[in-house]
Amino acid sequence: MLELKKKSVMFTGIQPTGSLTLGNYCGTMCSWGNLQKYYQCFFCVADLHALMSTGKKRAKYHSSKKILDMVALYLSCGVDPENNVIFVQSQIHTHSQLYWLLSNFCYFGELSRMTQFKQKSKHSQVDINLSLFCYPVLMAADILLYQTSYVSVGLDQKQHLELAQNIARRFNKLYGGIFTIPRVLINPTGFRVMALQDPQKKMSKSDANVNNTIFLLDDINIVRSKLKRSLTDSDFPAQVIYDPQRKPGVSNLLSIFSSLAEKTISQIELEFKDHQYSSFKQQLSDLVCDRISMIQKLYFSFRKDEDYLIDILKFGKKKAIHYSTENLYKVFKALDL
Ligand code: ATP
Ligand code: MG
Repeated sequence: MLELKKKSVMFTGIQPTGSLTLGNYCGTMCSWGNLQKYYQCFFCVADLHALMSTGKKRAKYHSSKKILDMVALYLSCGVDPENNVIFVQSQIHTHSQLYWLLSNFCYFGELSRMTQFKQKSKHSQVDINLSLFCYPVLMAADILLYQTSYVSVGLDQKQHLELAQNIARRFNKLYGGIFTIPRVLINPTGFRVMALQDPQKKMSKSDANVNNTIFLLDDINIVRSKLKRSLTDSDFPAQVIYDPQRKPGVSNLLSIFSSLAEKTISQIELEFKDHQYSSFKQQLSDLVCDRISMIQKLYFSFRKDEDYLIDILKFGKKKAIHYSTENLYKVFKALDL
């Protein structure tokens, strides 16, 4: 019998669509070490989600190497694999099963309103997979299968979380309190890190322009040069002030600073009141590089021991199957299946 070490469950996941980024880190990973103190955490490598966006490059992204890289990075961000569950989504059959069941409790209109679907389908009018449309339902299944109380995500996933809540409420209304209604956990800053060269769009690991993105495994000199060249704003006099409308570039850098230094934006504005952008960028660069160096040091030591990483996933698979099957069974029973 699986015993959960803590009462409330926190669920989170990242797709293996590329190398993990500073956006992923500030948006969710940086809080994992803390969250595991209070909640029973499930950390998912969301490889089924990754299938939809990789198209022809699918094999490259979906390799077991990529997945082990991610597990090593999860550990480097402080996840304790013994007291939490790290698992690969495609190894847990219950996710796809619940996905189908839940799709009967979700409307076409709701999915059509998802901002991410509208944006991603706009870019490619030709090859829009059904999965791009339906994946928020799979995400709802990922979350609801574990009776999740909290989900740690960046701001871009908030709308999908709200959909999961609606699906759960709808199901519960018809069949009783089967699902826990998950709440969204969004970090106070760094919840939407923007692309360095185009601060109107979010930083993404699958961005074609690598200069938009800081990867957690980037060479430190490359990190410095990407930050140095990041777009700031051409207003005069140049002031380090948070104003996402008028100064999206500097505001983005301020939110990264705030997230890593654990200081409020106002504290940082005050600190850099009479500074040039260059001096602000230099200190930000030191901060980012220190954190990334620390993560990389741990990463390379964890990544060396593949057997250890594989064992973690085996252990996670066992636990995730056990716990999710229990919950899926409740759904089957409610639907008289
Ligand atoms: P992709 O471009 O393939 O969608 P991604 O960088 O958006 O990759 P995901 O795997 O989709 O990464 O998201 C993993 C987690 O990281 C989610 O919680 C998401 O909200 C968060 N996240 C992603 N990008 C950012 C960002 N720029 N700022 C803050 N959080 C982010
Ligand atoms: Mg994404």
